[in-house]
Amino acid sequence: MRRKIHFVSLGCPKNRVDSEVMVGVAADAGYGLATEAEDADVIVVNTCGFIGEAKKESIDTIFEMAELRKAGSCSKLVVTGCLSQRYPTELSEQMPEVDHFLGSSDMLKLKQVLGGKAKRMLVGNPADWIVRAKDPRILTGPSASAYVKIAEGCNRTCAFCTIPEFRGKQRSRPLADVVREVKELVAQGVLELNLISQDTVAYGRDLEGRPSLAELVRAVADVPGVRWVRVFYLYPETLTEELTDVLANHPKVVKYVDMPLQHAADAMLKRMRRGHGKDRQKRVVERLRNAIPGLTFRTAFIVGHPGETDAEFQELVDFVNWAKFERVGVFRYSDEESAKSFALEGKVTPLQAGKRYRALMSAARKIARAHQKSLIGKELDVLVEGVSEEHEFVMQGRHAGQAPEIDGHVFLSGDECHPGQLRRVRVEQASDYDLVGTLIDVGERPKKRSAPVRLKVLASREAG
Ligand code: SF4
Repeated sequence: MRRKIHFVSLGCPKNRVDSEVMVGVAADAGYGLATEAEDADVIVVNTCGFIGEAKKESIDTIFEMAELRKAGSCSKLVVTGCLSQRYPTELSEQMPEVDHFLGSSDMLKLKQVLGGKAKRMLVGNPADWIVRAKDPRILTGPSASAYVKIAEGCNRTCAFCTIPEFRGKQRSRPLADVVREVKELVAQGVLELNLISQDTVAYGRDLEGRPSLAELVRAVADVPGVRWVRVFYLYPETLTEELTDVLANHPKVVKYVDMPLQHAADAMLKRMRRGHGKDRQKRVVERLRNAIPGLTFRTAFIVGHPGETDAEFQELVDFVNWAKFERVGVFRYSDEESAKSFALEGKVTPLQAGKRYRALMSAARKIARAHQKSLIGKELDVLVEGVSEEHEFVMQGRHAGQAPEIDGHVFLSGDECHPGQLRRVRVEQASDYDLVGTLIDVGERPKKRSAPVRLKVLASREAG
């Protein structure tokens, strides 16, 4: 009988790509995918470890899977990713049930583990790997959509962030290698490419010839068959003319920007060591809004960072109300011992941070609701994903202003449709995050694509 492997993928889309590479490694080694952990010979938990909540979720999941290992239902439990990269010694001492530990740069070492000849500890230090087009990878996300990692690691020194410590220094993929992967994905029926890394605007600065993000985005968008290109994790640097132009004018680049801003008060941005103040953020937002009519702007903020006063928090709320971001993620500050913010005075109590979280979420939700309502009656292109997980017998998709697994959906009615189709839809109803729409065109059958592989994804978090 074919041996089976079960994956739990935690954390952000970057971890998701790493999990998909491991699914590919396992398939090459002759393993089939088990949807349920109970049916697997090998269980892999790809962990997240950048904030307290994510660490807890990872540890709880490992312990849950360790019960199956102890009961003998599987013969190997493997822990990979950011948590084991960050705490290799502590985890190996405290989790005797775990057979192998791999770090955040060790996805290909799963082959040794499955071959039965690996050591228990396989965490490479420093983290120095980046996926390449030649690596095996099996997509597990929504139909016709894929994340593409353009770089790994980060050279910035934001005070609250521990990511560079365990994801390593910035290393960009050669432009030609990204394009090669994109061509292969398109050949598999992918229409939407979501470009990710920790710090996307820094793409290429470590490569010979220093190709820019703008060049890369254009090269990806020009690949025949690509329909939507989306760029995540832009840092609020002064945007170059070239990047603004490609984001605004390339017909395949969606009118969607993801730029985590983290805060808005000057003193807070300084404490966070972001290297710029509110004025620059305002100029960047204005420039993007002016250049890209109909832009959907996603950002993320941290509340409760050490030193944040009531007045500074209010400045953040005022900034959100001014910028009218269509999508806002809010995170409560997590006091990480190795982050520079850990040593700062003026810690905010969890109670206060909770209040600020709710207040900012409520302000953001009002803006999101107004934006959603403004879409009623409009006609939009929608990428059909498949049957809704929330409503049986209803198909769902996303319009260009909805990123996969992060934003909401469009629920579809009115005609038959198929996963992987791009269809014209008239929006009939709107809730805070989702839309309901009627199909108004006649769809062509999409390219035949093998049924998507299902991966257990427990969280979709953001950083960067
Ligand atoms: S917040 Fe983002 S840009 Fe800043 S150090 Fe962390 S990963 Fe890098």
